Formats: sequence, C-alpha cells, structure tokens
Amino acid sequence: MSLFADIVLPLAQPAYTYAVPEGMALEIGDAVSVQFGLRKYYTGIVWRIHEQRPAVSRVKSVVRRVYDHPLLDGHQRALWEWVATYYMCSLGEVMRCALPSLIKPSADSESSLLEETFYPRTERYYALAEPYRDEALLNETLDRMERRAPRLYECLLEVVASEDRQRCGEVARRLLAADSTPLQTLVKKGILTVCEHTPDREYEAPNFRLPTLTPHQQEALDRLRADFKAGRTTALLHGVTGSGKTEVYIHLIAEVLAAGGDVLLLVPEIALTAQLIERMERIFGARLTAYHSRLTNQRRSENYLRLNRSQGGEFVVGVRSSIFLPLKRLQLIIVDEEHDASYKQAEPAPRYSARDVAVWMAREWDGRTLLGSATPSLETWLNAASGKYGSASLTERYGDAELPKIYLSDTRRAAQRGERHGHFNKLLIDKIEQTLACGEQVMLFQNRRGFAPYLECPECGWTARCPHCNVTLSYHKYRSQLVCHYCGHTEDAMSRCPSCRVVELQPMGFGTEKIEEQIAELFPEARVARLDRDQLTSEGAFHRIINDFANRQTDILVGTQMITKGFDFEGVSLVGVLNADNLLLNPDFRASERAFQLLQQVAGRAGRRRAGGEVVIQTSDPTNPLLRQVLNDEFIAMARAQLAERQSYFYPPYARLTILTLKHVDVQVVRRASSELAKRLRARFGSRLLGPIAPAVDRIRGEYLMQLMLKIESSASRLRANELVAEELRWMAEQPDFKSVTIAINVDPQ
Ligand code: ADP
Ligand code: ZN
Ligand code: ZN
Repeated sequence: MSLFADIVLPLAQPAYTYAVPEGMALEIGDAVSVQFGLRKYYTGIVWRIHEQRPAVSRVKSVVRRVYDHPLLDGHQRALWEWVATYYMCSLGEVMRCALPSLIKPSADSESSLLEETFYPRTERYYALAEPYRDEALLNETLDRMERRAPRLYECLLEVVASEDRQRCGEVARRLLAADSTPLQTLVKKGILTVCEHTPDREYEAPNFRLPTLTPHQQEALDRLRADFKAGRTTALLHGVTGSGKTEVYIHLIAEVLAAGGDVLLLVPEIALTAQLIERMERIFGARLTAYHSRLTNQRRSENYLRLNRSQGGEFVVGVRSSIFLPLKRLQLIIVDEEHDASYKQAEPAPRYSARDVAVWMAREWDGRTLLGSATPSLETWLNAASGKYGSASLTERYGDAELPKIYLSDTRRAAQRGERHGHFNKLLIDKIEQTLACGEQVMLFQNRRGFAPYLECPECGWTARCPHCNVTLSYHKYRSQLVCHYCGHTEDAMSRCPSCRVVELQPMGFGTEKIEEQIAELFPEARVARLDRDQLTSEGAFHRIINDFANRQTDILVGTQMITKGFDFEGVSLVGVLNADNLLLNPDFRASERAFQLLQQVAGRAGRRRAGGEVVIQTSDPTNPLLRQVLNDEFIAMARAQLAERQSYFYPPYARLTILTLKHVDVQVVRRASSELAKRLRARFGSRLLGPIAPAVDRIRGEYLMQLMLKIESSASRLRANELVAEELRWMAEQPDFKSVTIAINVDPQ
C-alpha cells in the first residue's frame, strides 16, 4: 500500500501531492524537502497523508524530512486554514508569511539543512575581559571613555550593568540589534571578550518585580480579570496615554507566566517601541523574546524553532507576524495600540489583521485577548460598548501628569494678519520659543516626508510625475532627488521646467524636510533633528536620532507618524501639528476616525511627566467638528457621531467590506475584466457590489488598476460570501482573455 502526502509549498497554489517513500515516517505538520518542477527544491509542510494516488503519470517522492519534530501542531494548522479561508488566499501564502525565511528555503539543489545550523544550542555573549574585572582599572577606563567615546562608554556600561549570564546575552543581543560596532570595538580593544554558553531555558519559579498599581489601575485589572473569568475571551482596556495601561499588562503577563503559560504582546512597529521592550526586559529578563523584521533571518529562525520546542512560560513581544509563532501554551494575547493600521498587512497576501486574528484565536481556543488603546478603533469600541467584549477604562494619567492643553490655530487668519512665517503661525512660534527658553523639548508633526509633495512649473503648470505610477514625484531636497512614494522610482531633481525650459520649478506643499529647514531658520540656535521613513534605512541612524532626543542632545524633533507612537520622552512639553487639514481631507471612510486617533496620539506625547504640556494644531478650519472633539477630548462624542455616519452609509462595523483590485499592463484588458467580473458578482450579490471604479492612484509600477467593492451586512456569513466570490474568481482564471490579470483580494480593508 503506498502513501501520499499533500504538501503545502510557499506558493500561491493549492497543496501538491507527493509519494511518501517506503520506510519514511512522516507526521502531519512535518517540514519536508521536495522537488518542484525540474530543478527547484522547496521546504513544504505535510498537510494530509492519504492513499489516493493523484491522476498524474509520475508522482515525485518526498526527498527528506527536515526536522525530527513537526513544525506545526494542530492549533497552528487550524490557524493557517482559518486565515486562508477568511482572507481568501492559499495556504502557501500563509506559509510564506508565517515562517521565517530560513525555515522555508527554496533552492536549485537539495541543501542539507540541519536544525543546528540555524538553531545553535549555544549562545554568544559578551563579558569583561580578565584584566578589567579589576574595579580600579574598569573605573579608570570608564572615566576616560565617558569624555572621549560616549557611545563606547554607554555600551560598556550596559554590559557591566547586566547582572547574570543570561541577561548578559540578552543585553548583548539588544546592543547588537541596535548597532554592533561599539561592541566589536570594545572586543578589539581587549576590554570585552566573546563567550559562549548553553542557555538554560528551564525557567525557575519567577520572581518578577511588579509595579505597585494605583487604585484606579487595580480596579481596571480586577475588572478585566472578572470579565475574563466570566468567559469573555476578548476585552478592551481603554486608557488615556500615560494612564498606566502597560502596568496593567505587566500584572496580567506575570500571572500567566507564573502559571507556565505563554504570552504574546503585539506592538505596532518594533523599532518604535524599543522603549517598551526595554521596560519589559527589566521585569521579565530572559523570558522575553523579541520578534520583528529588524532581527536577522538567522535570529528569527532560531526564535521560531526554539519556541516550537518550548514547554511554556514564554513571553514574546513582536509585530503582527508574531501571531503565527508556535506558542504551545498561549493563554494571553495583548494587542497594544489595537487601533493601529499596521496590524493589517496590506501587501502581499495574506492581507490579514493580526488584531482580528488574535480575537479569533482567543475565541477558538478559549484563550484571552486584551486590546489596549487610548483611542480604540470604532469596531472595538462598539463591541465593548455593546457588551460583546469585556472592558475597563483608565481616565487619568499616572501621577501628577495632566492631559495637555490643546490649541487650534487658524492658518488663514494668521496669514491675513501677517502672523505667519513659512508654515508656522505666530502662536506656534511663540510657544516654541517659550518652551526652548525653559530648556524643554518640542516635537513637530507633519504627515508627509520629503521636502515637498511635488514640483510645479509656475509658468506652464508642468509637474514631475512617476513614469510607472499615476502620481507626482516627491521632492527630497537634501538628496536633490525626486522620489515616487509608491514604487520607489528615483531621479535627479531638475531645476528648470523641462517643458517650457525657462522658469524655475517651485516646490509645492510641504513635507518634514521643509519644516526642518524652516525651523532651523527660525531658531538658528536650536538643535533640530528629523525622523521619518527616509531615516529608517539604517538601524544605527534611527537609534541615534531617538537616543539623542531622549538624552536631550536635540531640542526639536520633526517627524511623520513615526514620532507619534509609543515614545515616552520626559522633556517634551510642546507638540506642534503643522497642518491638520490634509488628515481630514482624505477620502477614506475612516479618515475622521484616523485623524482623531492620530491627533490624540500626537497630543499624548506632550507633558508625559509634568503638568503644563501643550499642543498646537494648525488648521484652516478650526470649527471643524472633529477638531473640536479633539480639542475637548471627546472620544465618545466622536465615536457616536462617526458610528451614526457609518450606519447611514452602510460601512463597517455595520457592513463587511471586501475590495478586489484587478491589475494589468493593458488598460483595456483590465477594464474589460473588471466589468465582466462586476457583472457576474452583481448577479450574485445585487447592489452589494459596487464598481468597477478606477482607484485614486490608478496606475502603479506600470500596471493599470480597477477596483470592485463588496459590502455585505455584518450579520451575513463572511465565509459564504467568500465562497461565492471564489467561484467567480475561478471562472475568471479560466478565461483565456483574462488569465494574465492579477487580482488582489482585501478582506476587511483598513
Ligand atoms: P500607557 O501605557 O497607558 O501610555 P504607561 O504605562 O506608559 O501608560 O505609564 C505612563 C508613565 O507612568 C510611565 O512612565 C510609567 O512608568 C508611569 N506609571 C504608570 N503607572 C505606574 C505605577 N503604578 N507605578 C509607577 N509608575 C507608573
Ligand atoms: Zn514650464
Ligand atoms: Zn512610481
């Protein structure tokens, strides 16, 4: 009797069937090496073992079982299957996203992958070299360095401060992740040595030093515990910034770890939450595993394999893809800043929301999921308000800290009165001056990077556009380049208009670079830095900017969204929003909700520790109802108003959306395909199907785009709707004319 196995490969294809060689003991969930096509080898996952010979002439055999331990257990497989069905993609696409790249290699030859090669059982750490164990010498060295080499000094201090070996490894790991040069320099100088040890992952009975909660925090914690105990699998912790949500998390985390369970803490973007990780590390030490895209592939694979063999008691802090980590005793998932759009993967498939997956997981496996936010998404807030989720709230900041005072500053009126310099109203300039005079710091927010969103000829109106996308190119002055923010296309900036060849091109609108330039002109003595995605190219640069600001080496930090998340800078007492208008003008149905969240979050950066934090929001429309709600801190009024609008226009949470985007290099093909598909879907869904329409940016990377939108009642079955859509997509794929059209499916778009 011969056996066959259906193997999921990291491709946008269904599983492939292979023969199981005589004598090979395979288990479901095993990773195996198989040949695909003529000369390609893949690592795949055994999904099903059966006796049905596939109807092809030659069936290839599984080459090898990769590990002596299945890579996926039943929970993991159920999760992958749910994600594939709900978000309408193949299991292979889930695999691509769920497993770190070294674990799913594809190559031209069958490479011999041993677990040991990327899951070494020994760990490297850094320790003081023998002579420097002498305190006098060490102190003398530190003294010298403090003045001459501050980065080496900090690095060495951190190694010295790490108490035990395991902790040492963790510290070194963090330092390495930040920037390994100082560590290497210290080794070269003979001050540090590299050691190895076998990490002892048998956790001792924990003895975490937990913060003492305030009565309000304790009340919130008790409330959440009671909700969870009563069987609610998801709860919302709605707490203003600085109210101590993190303290409440810490208590819940410690409880689960002490009982031998695993905890997953999801954070929006790890580089930005370095401070949170450090805070958690101080309490949970070596228990903490960080998991994010800035780790090396090697490190991510090691973490994955180690967790796969762990016996529980693990604490992972990670970004959205860590929802797929093999935590065997996962009992608690915390989604911090649950409203954050980065929990939703936009590209490629699976276009999943890690928050929504976390809610599903808790329900499915009787775990617990806690959603935390100062400005919850309307979906979550409604679920909590209606009693579907448990909920607790924290309405006061910790300690003496008060919520900041917000000013709306009218840009038009300032211009009329001649009280505007560049993009700054006099009010903001005055406040910056006062703040700097008190020796405090300022953050300035502008949601566009680069110098200007486009260059325009004042004579003929010519603008620089991307040759591959239907958008203008952004002007980046310090690199003297024009950059497409959609496809990355870059060209040298020209100064003269290439069309009429006479006039100089004018930068239109403004981005962070221009603000940085203007602020430096207004306050020549202030130390100004800028933080946006352009700086993220180097991990070192990013950390330097953050650390310099935290250590008050800079006075003013200009930045995009990036500066709004999770930072806790003591010295900031003023936050300026250069232009709130473009947040409100966005055509997206979530624009108002997002603007509110963003402005509140930006505001939350001011005066974290002291009374007297101030926020200046510049706008041409100071009577805008949403800005009034921000001004008066009226989350509930905002939520009610927005929900009423959503209900009348039939948008989430009252409707479920799916957006289908069709792409093709030939505009005629994509137009015909989208009308044909719309016709067929309309026959099934009636007026619930909208479109086709060309999206705002209707050409990207040389492909033309058309969109269809499906809106179904929130009470209707998502899975049934998906089935109907899938049938029509299969039909499309069989039409010779439309075969080459690619279709991106976005379920619950954000
Ligand atoms: P949130 O996560 O809600 O924004 P945090 O947990 O970061 O708030 O708390 C804000 C600040 O107040 C932090 O610096 C934190 O250390 C401090 N803090 C909050 N609660 C306590 C507590 N119970 N004991 C000591 N410090 C606290
Ligand atoms: Zn011109
Ligand atoms: Zn482009």
